[in-house]
Amino acid sequence: MAKTIQDLIIGLKAGELPTVEDLSQLLAVRGNDSRLLLQAADSVRSAVMGNAVHIRGIIEFSNICRNDCLYCGIRRSNKAVSRYRIPDEEILETAAHAKEWGCGTVVLQSGEDPYYVAERISKLVRAIHAMDLAITLSLGVRPRAELRAFREAGADRYLLRFETSNRAHFARLHPDAPIEDRIRCLSDLRELGFQVGSGFMIGLPDATLEDVARDLLFTRQLQLDMIGCGPFLAHPDTPLRNSGQLPEKSVYYHVIALLRLLNPHAHIPATTAFDALDKESGRNRVLEGGANVFMPNLTPGKYRKQYLLYPNKPCVDEEGGACMLCIRGRLHSLGREIATGRGDAWRLTNAERSNA
Ligand code: SF4
Repeated sequence: MAKTIQDLIIGLKAGELPTVEDLSQLLAVRGNDSRLLLQAADSVRSAVMGNAVHIRGIIEFSNICRNDCLYCGIRRSNKAVSRYRIPDEEILETAAHAKEWGCGTVVLQSGEDPYYVAERISKLVRAIHAMDLAITLSLGVRPRAELRAFREAGADRYLLRFETSNRAHFARLHPDAPIEDRIRCLSDLRELGFQVGSGFMIGLPDATLEDVARDLLFTRQLQLDMIGCGPFLAHPDTPLRNSGQLPEKSVYYHVIALLRLLNPHAHIPATTAFDALDKESGRNRVLEGGANVFMPNLTPGKYRKQYLLYPNKPCVDEEGGACMLCIRGRLHSLGREIATGRGDAWRLTNAERSNA
């Protein structure tokens, strides 16, 4: 007898590994089944990760990239972007503000910018580490020796999304390097002792629900500490400008719920792109359906409009202090509080339970 949606959700909560067909069915649920799925994810998030939301402040310190990923607004072929690098002193000043504003973590993010050699990044990492902040890097694919240097300088975590586990899609969308480079980098990061984050873009052109289901299963296979996924949003200055959205918006939210059910111990952010999908409410809906991390943009205001990976990015006219006030209001309205401390990976902060 075919399993009902309720059976599938109960199985997921019990830790059963679903099939691609099971997940495709769950992604497409509607009405009451959709509500059941989101509620299940929220209850697992609450039971495993608690009620508090970790705040990780992002500093987008360079929009220069040597790559030409087809979906990305700062790809090297986009001549409509004014390129910038934030001076080191200003990056450190922003990190110090992040600490004052209550962030436990600073995320340094950039395109793949060759100007930032290992020593330059390591110097920034050492200075931020001395401020007693956890540091996440999101700098693209780097050689193992550079990753080791970042780790030795004090970097705690690294984010590198695989974007799609479908090799043919990956190759079409990323003309510069094969998926194997990313997989190799993710494995190096784990071996070097980083807390590892990855994820994928939801609703890429040509992706079927089965592709999304395989991406979900791949996150579980990678045993990630952090999983960031956001909707594909067609940027007008890219070759994918005419590509549309998934026919059912709810699928984007089901992805986050299923991420939580498949990876109960992972830190899962409500990524900014959800507010571009659903103005001002997208991230709230994600926080109510499995997510436990919020990543405010702390990039100084004068640079923000030049770091548009996708269109209609929210908060580009704000400054970091205003973002933090806004977040407090949002979380309060959802009955959630701001977490204190660094918000390290569950396996590190619960080592005893992990070993039991
Ligand atoms: S997605 Fe990342 S690597 Fe690709 S072009 Fe954009 S910034 Fe560069």
